[in-house]
This record gives sequence, structure tokens and C-alpha cells, in this order.
Amino acid sequence: MVIDLRSDTVTKPTAEMRRVMAAAEVGDDVLGDDPTVLALQDRFAAEMGKEAACFVPSGTMGNQTSIRSLTEPGDEVLAHAGSHIIHYETGAPAALCGVMVRPLAGPGGMFDAADIDEAVRPADAHYPRTRLVVVENTSNRGGGSVWPMDRVGRVLAAAARHGLRAHLDGARLWNASVALGVPCRDLARGFDTVTCCFSKGLGAPAGSAVAGDRESIRRVHRFRKMFGGAMRQAGILAAAALHAMEHHVARLAEDHANARTLARGLAGISGIAVDAGAVETNMVFFDLDESTGATAAALCASLDRAGVRMLPTAMRRVRAVCHLDVTAAMIPRAVDAVAQAVATARGH
Ligand SMILES: *Cc1c(COP(=O)(O)O)cnc(C)c1O
Repeated sequence: MVIDLRSDTVTKPTAEMRRVMAAAEVGDDVLGDDPTVLALQDRFAAEMGKEAACFVPSGTMGNQTSIRSLTEPGDEVLAHAGSHIIHYETGAPAALCGVMVRPLAGPGGMFDAADIDEAVRPADAHYPRTRLVVVENTSNRGGGSVWPMDRVGRVLAAAARHGLRAHLDGARLWNASVALGVPCRDLARGFDTVTCCFSKGLGAPAGSAVAGDRESIRRVHRFRKMFGGAMRQAGILAAAALHAMEHHVARLAEDHANARTLARGLAGISGIAVDAGAVETNMVFFDLDESTGATAAALCASLDRAGVRMLPTAMRRVRAVCHLDVTAAMIPRAVDAVAQAVATARGH
């Protein structure tokens, strides 16, 4: 059986999830009467501690409808240099929202209040209007890192001081919640909007949602339609999301434990550098030493032939993600496959 560690998006709906999808009551969500979508939006808003929510087809659409909702074209958005909205959303902040994104630095995909103080532009007709800060929790390219709550508090206080709005890209907010043992509503407090994905570690086939105050969500709903993301009998997908929120959140702790075991195993392979102590959630990033003679892409191709799939994310950097369809028993097999692939690359 293939061990697919490329991403937590590869999870397939479980038999039980497929059953609730098939049985879902549906309506026309564009006309506003799909009961399962309405139930999901209520449940998600409550879980995030917000007034309202809007179901969207993808995390990208959740982020972009939020950014569009909280800004006007020509505005400037502050986000970490490694953030998903900069790297993996096809330039949508520019193309769909007409905003400029100013990258902030910092280890682990995190910046701090001083970075905001420094980046905010004075009110002057020359400058774009700094309008929004985006926090990504957990941070994907930051290694699945979890923002410490006091740091989020400082960032939000700085944003408020400068009159900025705040969006939380919580594609993996449930991972942060489980890692910290803190409910999502506490992690989303102070943000105008928050997006979470049901299609990652939670195992739903598609779908994300945005929560926020009523006026921001009214605008998200309008831009969802404009961006082509309004769906009709979407209750079939909302049913999967409701099932995932009910049954697949607490078990994320298993993914985190598997990721730590994987990182410790990889740390024992000569030619691989991995900071096992930095693994906080379900992601493991490791670097190949030049002495191995292998690039990340070549190593992943070799692993693929052995039935283990990982993702090259830079010249010598590889990502492995644990999820619903990865069992603890698969971890030692994945470690062995990497050890074998490195040995093969070295020519013995
Ligand atoms: C996956 C992800 C998204 C959304 O991606 P989609 O593929 O559009 O669902 C947004 N932010 C982060 C940090 C992600 O990892």
C-alpha cells in the first residue's frame, strides 16, 4: 500500500463520511435554502466565536474573499514572506483583490508587533494604504508551527493601534487548537475574519469556511459569488464538513505524534538534517546534505518508486505530512524507505 505523505489534502472520505454525504438534506445554497450548508455555517461560526460564517469551495477562496472583504483595491496587506497567500494562491491578492502584499520576515512563519510598527505606512497620498494583516496559524512553510498566543495578542494589539483589520488563515487552525489544547474561538479572538479548511487533516473531500462579524461575512458572501464560488446543492459537501468537525478533530493528536516519530526516525539517517524538536503539529520538513548527491526532487522520485510519497519544497528540502490515512505502523516503513533512498543516491 502506498504511504502518501505529500499533504494532508490527500485524505479520502471515510465510509461513514460518504454515508452522511449521501444522506444529506440539500437545497439551493445560492437561493439560501440548503439546510445542511446553513447548519454548517452556524456551527462553524459558533466554534470560531463569530457572528456569522460562509461556506466556500477552497481555502484559497476563503482567504481571497476575506482579503477582498476587508480591503479596497490599492490597499496594502501585511503577511509573512512565506505565507500561503503569497506562494500558493496564483497571485490572487493582486488578480482578484487588487492589493499589494508586503512580506514580513521572522522564523517559523511568524513575525511580531515591531514588524508591523515598522511596515505600516504613514497617511500620505504617495503611499498605498496599509489596511490588513494576515496571520497563518499553523504556518505551512514555517514547518507546521503554532503561533504562541501571546505573540498573536501582541500582533493584534499592534494592528489595532494602527487601525488595521486582521485576517487569520487558519487552514490548519484545528491542528494549532489540538497542539495547544486551546479552543479555536480563543485562537480566532480579535481577528475580523478566519478561514479554516475541512479538506486537510479533517479529511473532507472539499470545502472551507470563513467566519467573522455579520458585515464582513455579508461582503465575503458577495465576493464568493463574484469569484465563482457559490454552489447549489452544496449540502453534500457541508455534510462531510460537519461530520469532520464532529469526528476528526481530536484525532489530529495522533497525526502530531506520528509526525514526531517520523522526525526522530529521519534524524537518525546520516545525510539528513531535521529538527525533531521543532515539530509541533503534523508536518515534518527535512534537508538533504549535499554529500548525499541527491536533490529533493530526485529523492522523492526514488521514494515514489518504493511506494512512499513526499513533496520536494526546495532544492534540497522535503516535506512529509501526517494525516487521517497515515497509521503509526506506516511511519517506520517511511523512515526505512528514506534511509534506503539516501543510500541508493550515495551509490551503495
Ligand atoms: C492549504 C492551505 C490553504 C488553502 O488551500 P486550497 O488548496 O485553496 O484549499 C490556505 N492556507 C494555507 C496555510 C494552506 O496550507
